[in-house]
Amino acid sequence: MNPLYSWHQTAWQHIQTMLDNQRMPHALIIAGVTGLAKADFAQQLASTMLCLQPNHHQACGQCHSCQLMLAGTHPDHLYIGPEESSKVIKVDQIRQLKDKQALTPNISQWKTVIIHPADAMNLNASNSLLKLLEEPPANTLIMLVSDSTSHLPITIRSRCQTLNISSADIEQSRQWLSAHAMSPDEDDLVRLHALTGGAPLQIKRMIEHGSLESLNQAARDFDQLIKGQGNIIQLAQDWQNLDLSLLFQQLQRWVSEQIKATLVSGQHPSSGLQAQQLWRVLDCITATIKLISSQNNFNKILLIEDFMVSIVQITSHKTSSQVNLNEQ
Ligand SMILES: [Zn+2]
Repeated sequence: MNPLYSWHQTAWQHIQTMLDNQRMPHALIIAGVTGLAKADFAQQLASTMLCLQPNHHQACGQCHSCQLMLAGTHPDHLYIGPEESSKVIKVDQIRQLKDKQALTPNISQWKTVIIHPADAMNLNASNSLLKLLEEPPANTLIMLVSDSTSHLPITIRSRCQTLNISSADIEQSRQWLSAHAMSPDEDDLVRLHALTGGAPLQIKRMIEHGSLESLNQAARDFDQLIKGQGNIIQLAQDWQNLDLSLLFQQLQRWVSEQIKATLVSGQHPSSGLQAQQLWRVLDCITATIKLISSQNNFNKILLIEDFMVSIVQITSHKTSSQVNLNEQ
């Protein structure tokens, strides 16, 4: 049954066209926001490539190859992710892939590799992969699954074809959630849909964690912080219990929207910050997201406090009209 999710349709059609034209690239970046089941998409594509009797470019689900895929023991398929207790994909894991690539396919006509999340590769791992991409082995498809392709080295991006998994529309989100016995009220659905960039799996996670209200509170805290109010120590205590990835994604979206509004329509952003300050705030958020996604066992309170101190420093220089307001 392909594709797995309704929002995969468009990307899957691209795959069909590539297969029809026998133009499957040797390396594919599967990109899109968090919560679109991109790894499942990659898995489905791998199954299709390896299937011994595909039907209209769909894995049959019955053959020896498909059974091995289902069992997770296909000798021509390799999945590379961060090892337990690590958030990083290390060079040894990529070397293992190189060793495996030296072999010819065992059962199928292709070999497939999924690296997920590809942006978790450390520098050495990236360099090692780059060498492989420079001399790609024949009949091998390497799939790099990534929520944030901007974190991938440009040298790697330039050697891969990018396939964007488009976000779900709100109706697709509603239907998928409903099939998972979730029916948020319309207002919440609209907000969650916007917050996640149209990612049903992420919406589900947020509902399960009761994230919406606490994230809304954190957004109000952040607004206060920018205005030079709020107690950093207290706020850091409050924030440490939140899903920091979600929280910082939300802040990133919020600040990006303000920048967009400033650039496109010349509006004065509601935060009262100047465009230059907003860019610096955005940099700060992006750096924090990178820290969160690349480190294990970090000190949450310290990370939040560092972030907040930076924000206060960036935003403490207000425009003259605001300084007057603040001084009154
Ligand atoms: Zn099959």
